Amino acid sequence: MHITFCAVEAVPFAQTGGLGDVCGSLPLALAQRDVSVTILLPRYKFIDAKKFGITPVDKYLSRAILSPNLDVYFLEHDYYGKRDGIYGDNGDDYPDNLERFQYFCSRALKTLEQLKIETDIVHCHDWHTALIPIYLKDQYKNSSLASARTILTIHNMAHQGVFPRERYPKLNLPATYNSPHYLEYFSRINFLKGGIVASDKVTTVSKQYAKEILTKEFGCGLESVLKSRRDPLVGIINGISHDVWNPATDKAIAQMYTKDEVTIGKTANKAKLQQLVKLPRRDDVPLFAFVGRLVHQKGVDLILEVMDQFLGMDAQVVMLGTGDRRYEKQVKACLDKYPGKIWANFEFDDSLAHQVYAGADFFLMPSRFEPCGLSQMISMAYGTIPIAFKTGGVVDTVKPFDATRREGNGLLFNHFTKKDFLQTLHRAMEIYRDQKKIHSLRQNALAADFSWDHAAGEYIKVYQCLLSA
Ligand code: ADP
Repeated sequence: MHITFCAVEAVPFAQTGGLGDVCGSLPLALAQRDVSVTILLPRYKFIDAKKFGITPVDKYLSRAILSPNLDVYFLEHDYYGKRDGIYGDNGDDYPDNLERFQYFCSRALKTLEQLKIETDIVHCHDWHTALIPIYLKDQYKNSSLASARTILTIHNMAHQGVFPRERYPKLNLPATYNSPHYLEYFSRINFLKGGIVASDKVTTVSKQYAKEILTKEFGCGLESVLKSRRDPLVGIINGISHDVWNPATDKAIAQMYTKDEVTIGKTANKAKLQQLVKLPRRDDVPLFAFVGRLVHQKGVDLILEVMDQFLGMDAQVVMLGTGDRRYEKQVKACLDKYPGKIWANFEFDDSLAHQVYAGADFFLMPSRFEPCGLSQMISMAYGTIPIAFKTGGVVDTVKPFDATRREGNGLLFNHFTKKDFLQTLHRAMEIYRDQKKIHSLRQNALAADFSWDHAAGEYIKVYQCLLSA
């Protein structure tokens, strides 16, 4: 079986979030299960050819071989990849993103033909690659690619690639597709919608999100388009890389620890974290951490709303995040108000993030919606207990703690309100004071399996099903 991944992010070459993780890590896990994978990526100027062993194929195409059945081709353009960002700079999208991603979609299929890659499935990710199923239908009827099937994986419904209808001629497609049956949505071009309609299969990144995006509340306007497909929407939870997020082998943390050494390991790492961020070195207070984008989706406003009451208790907070300036300002105000209780940093610092995951007792994740979410899985891998709103991928991965049965691996709140969130924080404080309870919670968190291998198995089932249909 040969699968072509088409994406605009993939670790380790280019990443801003979960999309990059999936498109870099899932192909590796598939390749280990004897699936051949080719990844097609735009060639961004910041991708270091030397560092990654990328060699030219021709003037506009280069390649890196990752393993005998996994290679990456980088599609170059004189202008579209030659900038500092993937989507934009300083929070603004590039004005020519329609042209940039249209070019990538069209070029991706041409590249498969050029290289004579006979692929079984073209696996597209998010709106940036959602034109590919349409081009394949329209322009490759008599090509060796005609029998290839297409899958579109939606990583976040909130991003759809919406543009004024006047720009339709740039897509280089017949007028037929400029209709509500394909790309048009309320008099605008909507890339994601086109992909949902035209691809052979649509998947998303958790079972719960697959249910949620069929509703008005989470579907971001496309719920009826999703519902109009005859086949069911499939949800497959992402994994995390065990090589990267593993306290037993993590060189970025002060003291490595296994499941059996969790108490001693966390105590040592908490002390190191407190020393790093200049908070009082105390093990009798629980340390709550947030690592993530400082944006509305992540519920940063809810954390800020409860801060007065929360820090009125005997607790410490560490926040690491980049994002909206207004949240940054509000967090800064808390630093002045509660010295010795809260510390924050507004950079993207991967190494520090490792120490935070290892050193914290609880992880704050009040996301309003969460297609999958990696940070709750990462924190559990370090025995750090997630406190999360019951939504999307959180539901697939965090099982609420039942103190009597000693079951469950996290703390969930069911209503996105200040009251519910605060109650859950109070509960966390109580659990922290009970050594037996916190120990069993940590053990349960550490026992969870979030390997990419599991996800790869689920995707292979979808591929097989599609090929036998
Ligand atoms: P999303 O993709 O919506 O941003 P995820 O939870 O899926 O959220 O993934 C976020 C990833 O980015 C996690 O691995 C998290 O640790 C990391 N991360 C987010 N912000 C920072 C930061 N400021 N410094 C270091 N790592 C960060």
